[in-house]
Amino acid sequence: MLCALCYSIIPAHYNTKYAKTLQYSIKKKRKHVHFVPLKKNNAGLYTCGPTVYNYAHIGNLRSYVFEDVLKRVLKYNKYKVKHVMNITDVGHLTSDADEGEDKMEKGAKREGKTAWEIAKFYTKAFQQNLVDLNILAPDIWCRATDHITEQIKLVQKLIDKGVTYETSDGIYFDTTKIDDYGKLANLKTQNLKPGARVKLGEKKNPHDFALWKFTPTGQKRQMEWKAFEKMGFPGWHIECSAMSMKYLGKQFDIHCGGIDHIPVHHTNEIAQSETATGKKPWVKYWLHNEFVNMSNPSTGAQDKMSKSLSNFITLDTLKTKNISPLAYRYFLLQTHYRKQLSFSWEALEAAQNGLDRLYGIVKSWKDAPKIGCAEYEQKFLDLVNNDLNTPEALALMWNLVKSDYPVSAKKRTLFKFDEVLGLGIKTLKYKNIKTAIPDEVQKLLAARATARAGKDWKESDRLREEIREIGFQVVDSADGHGVKKLKI
Ligand code: AMP
Ligand code: ZN
Repeated sequence: MLCALCYSIIPAHYNTKYAKTLQYSIKKKRKHVHFVPLKKNNAGLYTCGPTVYNYAHIGNLRSYVFEDVLKRVLKYNKYKVKHVMNITDVGHLTSDADEGEDKMEKGAKREGKTAWEIAKFYTKAFQQNLVDLNILAPDIWCRATDHITEQIKLVQKLIDKGVTYETSDGIYFDTTKIDDYGKLANLKTQNLKPGARVKLGEKKNPHDFALWKFTPTGQKRQMEWKAFEKMGFPGWHIECSAMSMKYLGKQFDIHCGGIDHIPVHHTNEIAQSETATGKKPWVKYWLHNEFVNMSNPSTGAQDKMSKSLSNFITLDTLKTKNISPLAYRYFLLQTHYRKQLSFSWEALEAAQNGLDRLYGIVKSWKDAPKIGCAEYEQKFLDLVNNDLNTPEALALMWNLVKSDYPVSAKKRTLFKFDEVLGLGIKTLKYKNIKTAIPDEVQKLLAARATARAGKDWKESDRLREEIREIGFQVVDSADGHGVKKLKI
């Protein structure tokens, strides 16, 4: 019999600088456990989706690629997967501690649009990112703003259970009312008594969190609803509890997200869900991916890629540098999802070259796929079933490609591997993605065409140089001009 899936619940090495700033520590090492679903042959999977106030950066996208591999592995093992992903389009404040501006309203101000328009635009952009990365779409997409009633009901349930209190700005969960708060992250609550380092405001305890926020007096928000006798909006965590339970039941199998969700978002989701239903555990298995980091030019340190640090890169930026989204996917698979990953253009270029080579080889294989290589297929299954060991699975894939097996067998097995890897090997997909030319370059090209039409050769040369500095070479030809991406 095939071995069961084997996962770690949360990383054993969780001791990053980021974690320390959040003032908690992990005491116990987490262990790998075999996956045993609640319902035979089925897997309920909930993955925290994006906050749609801006483009997702490629660090965010690591989460969705890792979750896609997980889902593909479950399917590869013949599980019937029900995958739910939320879209956070309200209630996520600029600070995870229930303070600051709503990210959606902030995005609306930034772009002179309504919060609803911002949500629509960036949801679409995110969904396109998933398509580009060959990520299988969830079975259910759910928007927070489409589930306000469910969230209000859940908050009411918690009020009825006596675990909440009201302040001037919202309804809060009193974390001291439950005895296992913080179990996912092994939070050391005793070290977080009110003190100089923790700003409490009207909160009774440092970890207490908002279930529902009131619209500040005298203000009108773009997104607000009448509940609990006032206008207000949901806290960030309540949506994931309400929507996951609506679609997957009071208890379900797997919940995923990035590692930064462990101490606050997922910890709070557990507290409110288990308290509301009385059923424990709410979720059987938790899996979290590590960060994509960027080197800080001033300090040399590796910082988490994040919008707040303005050190982020989007998938579109990669395209302008001739890195296809699938090459980025390949780059991600080269590192285990629980290891930190340093971004570098050199590594990405190497990934692109590696994928090009693979595509070239597969293209040269003219024989039709026939009986596969059983030995390789077994090894591959063992690797991906062992906590999604994609780096070794890729190494195995290359061994297969270089092996003496007949092409017909190699082709068949490689296509099978790609059901998990999702590199588009069967369709050689990314060749269809054209290099995007940035707006900036397009504008300069248009200005150069005008200069040339007016025989202003000096200005034309200056613009050619300016375009070159951005990384593109102007190519003039009899039928016009274009640009070619310079090598990085
Ligand atoms: P957000 O849209 O901010 O809620 O983030 C979406 C997902 O990206 C969450 O699962 C985060 O934990 C994850 N994430 C954020 N930054 C990074 C990063 N630098 N590397 C990997 N994952 C990240
Ligand atoms: Zn969530």
